[in-house]
Amino acid sequence: MPDVMVAARASEASGSKTQQVDVAVVGAGFAGLYLLHRLRKAGFTTVALDEAGDVGGTWYWNRYPGARCDIQTIDYSYTFDPELEGAWKWSEKYATQPEILRYLGFVADRYDLRRDIRFHTKVTAATWDQVAERWQLTTDHGATISCRYYIMATGCLSSPKPPEIDGVKDFKGKVYFTGRWPHEELKFVGKRVAVIGTGSSAIQSIPLIAEQAAHLTVFQRTPNFALPAHNGPAPAERATLLESDRAGYREQARWSLAGVPLPQQTVVSWQLSDAERRERFEQAWAAGDLVFMLTQLWADQGVDVDGNALLAELFREKIRSIVKDPETAAALTPYDHPFGSKRPCLDTNYYATYNRPNVTLVNLRQEPIASITASGIKTDKRSFDIDVIVFATGFDAMTGAIKAVHPITGRGGKSLTDVWADGPQTYLGLTVAGFPNLFLVTGPGSPSVLSNMAVSIEQHVDWVVDRLIAIQAAGFTAIEATETAQTGWARHMADCSTLTLHRLANTWYTGANVPGKPQGVMPYTGGVGPYRSICNEVVGGGMLGFRLTGPNGAEQCNDGEIVRLQPDVRLVLNMLAEMNLPPIESLGAQGARDFVAEFNKSRPAGRPVGEIVDGTLPLTDGSLPYRLYRPAAPGPHPIAVYFHGGGWVLGDEQSDDPLCRDICRRAEMIVVSVGYRHAPEHRFPTAAEDGYAATRWIAEHAAKLGGRPGPVAVAGWSAGANIAAVTCQLARDRGGPEIAGQLLVCPVTDCAFDRPSYGDNAAGYFLTRPLMFWFWDIYCSPADRTDPRVSPLRGQLAGLPPAFVVTCEFDPLRDEGVAYAEALAAAGVPVEQLQARGHFHSSFAMVDVVITGVSGRARMAEALRRFAGLPQKTAQSGESIPQGRQASSPELNAAAK
Ligand code: NAP
Repeated sequence: MPDVMVAARASEASGSKTQQVDVAVVGAGFAGLYLLHRLRKAGFTTVALDEAGDVGGTWYWNRYPGARCDIQTIDYSYTFDPELEGAWKWSEKYATQPEILRYLGFVADRYDLRRDIRFHTKVTAATWDQVAERWQLTTDHGATISCRYYIMATGCLSSPKPPEIDGVKDFKGKVYFTGRWPHEELKFVGKRVAVIGTGSSAIQSIPLIAEQAAHLTVFQRTPNFALPAHNGPAPAERATLLESDRAGYREQARWSLAGVPLPQQTVVSWQLSDAERRERFEQAWAAGDLVFMLTQLWADQGVDVDGNALLAELFREKIRSIVKDPETAAALTPYDHPFGSKRPCLDTNYYATYNRPNVTLVNLRQEPIASITASGIKTDKRSFDIDVIVFATGFDAMTGAIKAVHPITGRGGKSLTDVWADGPQTYLGLTVAGFPNLFLVTGPGSPSVLSNMAVSIEQHVDWVVDRLIAIQAAGFTAIEATETAQTGWARHMADCSTLTLHRLANTWYTGANVPGKPQGVMPYTGGVGPYRSICNEVVGGGMLGFRLTGPNGAEQCNDGEIVRLQPDVRLVLNMLAEMNLPPIESLGAQGARDFVAEFNKSRPAGRPVGEIVDGTLPLTDGSLPYRLYRPAAPGPHPIAVYFHGGGWVLGDEQSDDPLCRDICRRAEMIVVSVGYRHAPEHRFPTAAEDGYAATRWIAEHAAKLGGRPGPVAVAGWSAGANIAAVTCQLARDRGGPEIAGQLLVCPVTDCAFDRPSYGDNAAGYFLTRPLMFWFWDIYCSPADRTDPRVSPLRGQLAGLPPAFVVTCEFDPLRDEGVAYAEALAAAGVPVEQLQARGHFHSSFAMVDVVITGVSGRARMAEALRRFAGLPQKTAQSGESIPQGRQASSPELNAAAK
């Protein structure tokens, strides 16, 4: 018997006035309406509840003048029904609030949704009944509700912040909140109006209020970046693109980073001249498209403080060029956050409004509001007589509408407010451990506000409803996230937040706008497409991270973490998997070299250094090429001799170019990358002997190379790290040169293949077990393999220079790297280890691709500086901020400037 019928009979029997449904949804906005439609189609009895008097959600409440969407409306629409798409035509590029509200009303009518919505109804409490496996809801109006599933479609920005300023109650004039705007038209003619706040709502409403008011005073705490919308008809080329391939267009949006069909930008800022960057910026400024400006100028703008600063400065120039009064322009110019880390705004005449004689900007950083009085607003310097105050002060975002609206009590009587006391915890942003059958749409932990909401909402709703259908079909009645999965998601969220610059600003994304709220980046910063694929993987993995239970003890729990790789490593590996490449070991040595050379062509160009010089160095039986990277700052600099990776078979002195540049820039040392000879042409011990000979020559010619005479450091990655380690042993045993320290990144240290990492990571992480076998076979006969010149772990380790050993979790070489570090330490060598969680063998060599490797590379550079006796550097350019740590303002200020 269907669930609802059992429940209905129980309710009839008890004679209660409880409304029995399969699913209760809170909210009748974009998410609630689509949920209602999908649930009903799937055969679930459903009720939606909303405090508002009609559908619309955020668009019902936010009726302030100038309210519009700031994602092009063509993209900010439902896509689930092509007929619906055909039946509605948007009149503008960015539709107004009334038009969006009409659209949502049109959708509600088309699918006859209103009959299942209880308007003017607020849920006052929600309690999980473990015995009945149902949620019991009380409301402020009408019957209580009993439902199997409870879905919060409450939006992310629905709970306006109360005014935090003393004296509001004393004010005799009118007070309005942009987030709770009256339905009747307000007239400001002849009025002295104050707007408090300069976020999106204020920036949209200020120009229109200024046109009417006798005088408008804007109270600004933090200036924001705003881009002109250049509103008008929907751009023809976008409409043509959509109409020529509607399905393809929508699909591209679903797999994009922000939910808008724009490609991933690949050109990095340092590949562009000043003029080219300016041209790109001017085009974006003229296009009036926020998502375009946020994602399309250059690849590093959203992930690197330096790349971002170039864009922010172009923005600042614009503000200065529009606003005539220099003091006002300076106050309006943001310096405290990278562009995009705080939600930028889309405006119409915002900055120009400050040129009007009836508009005054009050910079609250210089004169904070002291209080609101009966007649106006007092700062600590002046008083302003005001008739109307508009609070555009924002929302208790992401969690406010879920947590603060009503008590939610889950399994074992646990309250969601208590469980989230230190910040929201979710699995996928959709579910919470301890709260069975509760779903959040665009909850904290989902891409939500960092995406086109329409796209994210459709994905969430489809995923949730499809799961409910599947659960029911399988005979389960409850679904709950596991603690393991939720903890893993928090870790993945933290990893993702090191990718973007959102962590560097105090914003509502991080909870910083609400006094006392726990801090942390709340939306998922990994992107819409990656998020979608993760949700699909959860299903493909047998509902990984969920416990499903049902009648008669039925239970299924496939526990675990859905993402253990760093987010960008996951993207790289997925991309490689999609390329369906032949195994490198099947290509032959020359074929493999050609492949690597070709592959490297598509990587981002390394960053500029002071100078690059190619040369050759002599050997007793020939010569070796080298490439020298010199820092821009005046020398002489200490030298690091670098050996590239490639299994003693592949690569050359140029093949690790981005990493060598990175080391040179960060460590401020000369890096000499040596083109040692390769197998099979030159088998063991040629590479080892070349490494040693090259190091000796470089050390002896340090001054000639423009370096600081004295000990050199050695460094290398993979087989190159093997050569660096061996060089240290040979230098100790053969009377020099003196080596200051060794940086070993994912080193080969031993010829045994039975350590667990060889099994755990045998396939799927680019460097495979068969590939390593192939390298060994080409380079070294089995009889020679225990020689310390190829298995340094088997050599004498006492008396070696200090070491910094890097290992990666998903690398067959992980355990032999750790073993080497431990053996060095046991032999009395000073050793530091970096065991990089979620990284793979190539993570640190993929500079400007694996962004989460930045903090690791910064630590490596610091180690080299220590070896060379250079002073430690402070965090540079926001890049070297360790993973998961919030940057403090001085760091950010230093970086931003
Ligand atoms: P907001 O971005 O949080 O802006 C609130 C403003 O009020 C900020 O300038 C803030 O300053 C200021 N403020 C807050 N408390 C204050 C206080 N006690 N004293 C003085 N100033 C104070 O809020 P919002 O403008 O309503 O926008 C919220 C979000 O809604 C947007 O970021 C956007 O995602 C969305 N939205 C979208 C649209 C659209 O698409 N079209 C329109 C409106 C809103 P601080 O920065 O110093 O905290």
